[in-house]
Amino acid sequence: MSGLFTAAFLRRIGWDVDVFERSPVELVGRGAGITTHPELLEALENSGAGTRDLGIEVEKRITIDRQGRVIGERPLRQILTSWDRLQRLLRETIDPAHYHLGHTFARVEQDGSGVRVHFAEGRVERADLIVGGDGIRSGVRAQVAPDAQPIYSGYYIWRGAPNEADLAPATLASIFPYFVFFLPERQQVIGYPISGFDNDLRVGHRRYNFIWYRVGDARTLKDMCVDETGHQHDYSVPPPLIRRDLIAQMRAEAEAIMPAAFVDCLRNIARPFFTPIYDFSAPAIVFGRVALVGDAGSSSRPHMGFGVAKAGGDAQALADALAAHDDIDAALAAYNAVRQPIGERIMLHGRKLGTHLGVDLKTDEDRRMWKLLQGHEAMMDWIAVPNFLAAYR
Ligand SMILES: Cc1cc2nc3c(=O)[nH]c(=O)nc-3n(C[C@H](O)[C@H](O)[C@H](O)COP(=O)(O)OP(=O)(O)OC[C@H]3O[C@@H](n4cnc5c(N)ncnc54)[C@H](O)[C@@H]3O)c2cc1C
Repeated sequence: MSGLFTAAFLRRIGWDVDVFERSPVELVGRGAGITTHPELLEALENSGAGTRDLGIEVEKRITIDRQGRVIGERPLRQILTSWDRLQRLLRETIDPAHYHLGHTFARVEQDGSGVRVHFAEGRVERADLIVGGDGIRSGVRAQVAPDAQPIYSGYYIWRGAPNEADLAPATLASIFPYFVFFLPERQQVIGYPISGFDNDLRVGHRRYNFIWYRVGDARTLKDMCVDETGHQHDYSVPPPLIRRDLIAQMRAEAEAIMPAAFVDCLRNIARPFFTPIYDFSAPAIVFGRVALVGDAGSSSRPHMGFGVAKAGGDAQALADALAAHDDIDAALAAYNAVRQPIGERIMLHGRKLGTHLGVDLKTDEDRRMWKLLQGHEAMMDWIAVPNFLAAYR
């Protein structure tokens, strides 16, 4: 997403840009729901991608208890979109001749006035600058800042998105239209509607994004990362390889604690998958003629649902800096000065919201925040709400 945003913004200021994606096939069906924010809508409009058919608007958020009773609600209009929809909108801004699948970044050489980029498949490209938009495990960053490493938060999420058509009428009536919280001790279950396959927004063809936050230490995570064939993975397991015993255990635990509507969601997710949650902020996002954008530069816990908005903001700031300076190095320095602190701020805000789960509370402020967030009203006021950055300006 950050790579596509960057290409779109740089082309608008007259740069020649090529995007190199490791995957040999078009990326579809990755991730699921994405909360939108004013900053994301602005970045989509300014990049030329636009916001047409972006997603589903909910009018309120509610919290339910184990019996499914509504124990709190907040009016809050919010558009919920999906990774697929955003990717499609952004992908359409790039001339296919400049979008290269099946190219894996291998290494970069710098000579002061530009870069030579080597791809694992053998291609070598010369450019004024390389932008690493290659995610939280960025290979570009690994070369220029190998010590900057994501830190495991101490919790992970189970996720999936059942089809609207498969859900029980009671589920459709009670939770489907809303952004919903269910908050057992040291856990969060969150759900909201998103479009269906191929961005289908028609009633009956949509999906419901299901997220279950659970505490698990590094040892638990390591065990979860042993796949169905016995292979140990480093960070997470590709969904088809997640162990069946793990999924069965998770389903049983969910049935024991969740309201019927969320149990129904989980039963209709054929292949739930898990994602460990990390904190990450690189101390710098520019290294000579190498710039980092999106999760490669900083990545926060997903409590704000702001990652793609941040990616768009990085890309726009990079283009603004390059447009404002004749000298590329001065522009990159300006970009670093503006966006590195913002990335770090967002990461710290995510940590703050994560105190709800009661893991690794280090300071009085952590404990104060933890206490505040034990109330479901506070959770509805803080989680994935728009304009949270305004408090820091
Ligand atoms: C559970 C969860 C929920 C989230 N919810 C939200 C939300 O509601 N709203 C929101 O805005 N954000 C959300 N996010 C965050 C969002 O998904 C990320 O911030 C966003 O995807 C970052 O985009 P990116 O382009 O920087 O990185 P990525 O999406 O990781 O993309 C990196 C790309 O680089 C490619 N790549 C990697 N290595 C190489 C290489 N060596 N050579 C070439 N290509 C390579 C990858 O194939 C990939 O296409 C959520 C994240 C999680 C984990």
